[in-house]
Amino acid sequence: MAPTCTVLDDRFERLILGTARLETLWTGSRWAEGPAYFAAGRYLVWSDIPNNRMLRWDETDGSVSVFRQPSHNTNGHTVDREGRLVSCEHQSRSVTRTEHDGSRTVLVDRIAGKRFNSPNDVVIKSDGTIWFSDPTYGIDCDYEGDAAPSEIGASHVYRHDPAGGTCAAVTTDFVQPNGLAFSPDERLLYIADTGVSHVKDGPRHIRRFAVARDGRTLSGGEVFATCDAGLFDGFRLDVLGNLWTSAGDGVHCYGPDGALLGKIGVPEVVANVCFGGPKRNRLFICATTSLYAIFLRTQGCVRPPAPAVGPAGPTAG
Ligand code: MG
Repeated sequence: MAPTCTVLDDRFERLILGTARLETLWTGSRWAEGPAYFAAGRYLVWSDIPNNRMLRWDETDGSVSVFRQPSHNTNGHTVDREGRLVSCEHQSRSVTRTEHDGSRTVLVDRIAGKRFNSPNDVVIKSDGTIWFSDPTYGIDCDYEGDAAPSEIGASHVYRHDPAGGTCAAVTTDFVQPNGLAFSPDERLLYIADTGVSHVKDGPRHIRRFAVARDGRTLSGGEVFATCDAGLFDGFRLDVLGNLWTSAGDGVHCYGPDGALLGKIGVPEVVANVCFGGPKRNRLFICATTSLYAIFLRTQGCVRPPAPAVGPAGPTAG
């Protein structure tokens, strides 16, 4: 057992490495968030939200440089099927895409004529649809964006279809939706609610939804896990369906059954994680001022193949 790891369930022993240690890759941010690993370029991009910049860690030599500044206070990122960076931006209150030529495209910034609050975290389904959370953290004050009232008056999770240009809320009963991720087969969507930041005794949990067969709507939404140390912010799943989430004292790992399997201790508050490296067996951890990493015995889940193009049959989806 690695000394930084706490085993709470025997299953965790098979997910961690006895010789692996938590490595500090870089220090110097105010609030590190939104890691996204680019396998082709062997680098990791993440956000330093209050400093209005994105950083880039080069896996080939360990160097860190500024990727973009100003960054419109980007928060969460992901990589789409075509290898492009998709970003949540607090300041522009939008979800954007960085094209292959480096230009920035605003994909969606409002619904029914009302601007979003401040998109926070984002995932992309195998069908190309973009799912993102929209809490108010980026408009609450000027620290991580520009202070402004909420035009929508609520904080939802949305599904945006860039092909059709449509956008619709898929949840409407969250206080502050935050991190989100699909199960490996995309039949489940996990969404964190960090509402305790705004409501006394409010939610500090992750809920689990079933994704409809047509991939457009959610059902269920039971509480999957409640945080026992700080808050769950961003998280990712591994190939086995285990959920690796940020928390106040490090990274917590939950089995598909909701059991807390173990923890990786991190000396700073963790905001988000992602799997990377050529074998996807390295967990990158954004934690306040620093970027950490640890090798694991499991791998980050891979997005399923895109659905076949053609007429949809009665069981498609
Ligand atoms: Mg977040």
